[in-house]
Amino acid sequence: MTQILAYALQHPQDQLVPFELTLRKLKEQDILIDILYCGICHSDIHQARSEWGQARYPMVPGHEIVGRVKQIGAKVIGFAIGDAVGVGCMVDSCRECGSCQDELQQFCSQGPSFTYNSLEQDKQTPTYGGYAKGIVVHEDFVLKIAPQLDLARVAPLLCAGITTYSPLRRWNVGPGQKVGIIGLGGLGHMGVKIATAMGAEVSVFTTSLNKYEDAKALGAKHVILSKDEAAMKAAAKQFDLILDTVSAKHDINLYLATLKRDGVMVSLGIPPEPVELSLRSLLSPPRILTGSSIGGIKETQEMLDFCAQHRILSDIEIIAIQDVNLAYERLLKGDVKYRFVIDMQSLQG
Ligand code: NAP
Ligand code: ZN
Ligand code: ZN
Repeated sequence: MTQILAYALQHPQDQLVPFELTLRKLKEQDILIDILYCGICHSDIHQARSEWGQARYPMVPGHEIVGRVKQIGAKVIGFAIGDAVGVGCMVDSCRECGSCQDELQQFCSQGPSFTYNSLEQDKQTPTYGGYAKGIVVHEDFVLKIAPQLDLARVAPLLCAGITTYSPLRRWNVGPGQKVGIIGLGGLGHMGVKIATAMGAEVSVFTTSLNKYEDAKALGAKHVILSKDEAAMKAAAKQFDLILDTVSAKHDINLYLATLKRDGVMVSLGIPPEPVELSLRSLLSPPRILTGSSIGGIKETQEMLDFCAQHRILSDIEIIAIQDVNLAYERLLKGDVKYRFVIDMQSLQG
């Protein structure tokens, strides 16, 4: 067993504070990872504040983890000490159900073990995430990262990257297609980069006029201010696919109107409150409204390789862990370009 430092909260209204964590003894196929960087996803805030139903405390959030292999179990075959590795939103699953066999572990019928605010497959041991010096993970849930990359800028790919990559692949995005991304935040900016690299013509729907130049620099061809009624009207029936990354309650009907016949809107954001759907938005012309949840482990590796090949990294602001509570407040105000990443060297005992 290894004692390590982490940051945790004990209650939804609490701040994150230093916390001592005991990592499990390595099993045969386990890897002990020294965490170097961890991104801050908006889901960390939703869960820390128990906005999605009863959360588990103490909670160590963080599922955009990058680090180096420190120690390996006797039967680990895919990794060596010193390798650059990543861990995303899941650390285990049953391996046997249909979804696991289809490499879609996020839909495991027994319930996947999410990286934090969840239980190991024994259904008893709580999981703790990446705002910590280390983590122990079965090698099947550890991702390989090309060592020459800027590891801090890779961290957000482990959630924001795969969450946008997966639906873009699923709906066969490519040249000749028009893709809209709603919300230029952590997920949104990755969606712009990845959809552009896939060859699509990308537009950003934003509520923030000051993100106009950034959206263009990230690869967007058009930027549409969603509060501008005339601009929204001009965008009617234009898009093949839209990714909705908005974290708060919003009017989805407004954006559905910009889909073409048989166009698809994929909900990625998880606002705590229900949103209103006018069924008229779906029928003339007919449109598809669906959702997507992160991505399986195999697809996450495919995404990391795709991003390495296309030189796609996240745009980040590195912070010390002592500033994590302030970072949460800034993220809620949209004051980050476009992902906070915690430098875990700042966590010293
Ligand atoms: P984020 O960085 O805070 O970005 C969200 C963006 O949404 C903001 O930058 C803002 O963009 C826009 N926005 C915020 N409030 C809005 C409002 N009231 N109306 C319209 N637009 C608004 O968050 P994130 O980390 O990208 O996460 C986004 C959401 O996805 C969260 O709910 C998160 O929990 C969820 N998520 C889902 C999955 C999944 O598997 N489906 C995975 C990860 C995260 P503009 O300033 O450009 O308008
Ligand atoms: Zn996330
Ligand atoms: Zn399963």
